[in-house]
Amino acid sequence: MDNLLTRREMIKGVGATTLGLSLTNFTSSAFAQSKHDSPAEYTPLEYTLPPLPYAYDALEPHIDKGTLMIHHDKHHAGYVKKLNAALQKLSDARKSSDYSLIKHLSKDLAFNGSGHILHSLYWQSMSPKRSGKPKGKLLAAITKDFGSLKNFNDQFQSATKAVEGSGWGLLCFEPLGNRLLILQAEKHQNLSMWDVYPLLVCDVWEHAYYIKYQNRRGEYIKNFMEIINWSTAENRYIEAKKL
Ligand code: MN
Repeated sequence: MDNLLTRREMIKGVGATTLGLSLTNFTSSAFAQSKHDSPAEYTPLEYTLPPLPYAYDALEPHIDKGTLMIHHDKHHAGYVKKLNAALQKLSDARKSSDYSLIKHLSKDLAFNGSGHILHSLYWQSMSPKRSGKPKGKLLAAITKDFGSLKNFNDQFQSATKAVEGSGWGLLCFEPLGNRLLILQAEKHQNLSMWDVYPLLVCDVWEHAYYIKYQNRRGEYIKNFMEIINWSTAENRYIEAKKL
């Protein structure tokens, strides 16, 4: 595991968290100190920029020192700063019950949160040591799910190269199907945030409500809130905290 921590170690001592990433210096959660439904006690913790796990020139000649310096110290730092700002503004919105900027703030949260998470993982995804080939359980899973290491290599490179505009290529584990997947992400997120574990979802595609509610999406959501299965959400929360 080198310098990677387990998810459990990452979130030690924190309460609800949107993060479960196994990354060093990545332990803070915006919700770490919230106490149930007592907004008066809510004190958001700040996310922090994890230090680069190697020297700026350690990946030469594959990635040059100047690029790494700007990428980590400027770009990644910017995501962390804007993520904290978005969380602070969301906290303010809850206090004043003023949600007029909710689309803007939700977008800021997803974009900068995903930017922070993916960059933290990106630094950890590279090593000054020549990595060679996957081994052990990961190699077995790659062989099972992609047929061979060559197939994985070809698909990963093709998918990453084919990302439209700015984005990422990702090797992911999908727990429902218990399988590895190669995915693309445009930008960082498209309004979602990587490495979150859904507890509760509400479908707002029109097919979910149009026959009864037509264009009255808000009314549908209000009714949805009254039939939430909170015990399922709680069970998923308990399971997620074990990750
Ligand atoms: Mn970047």
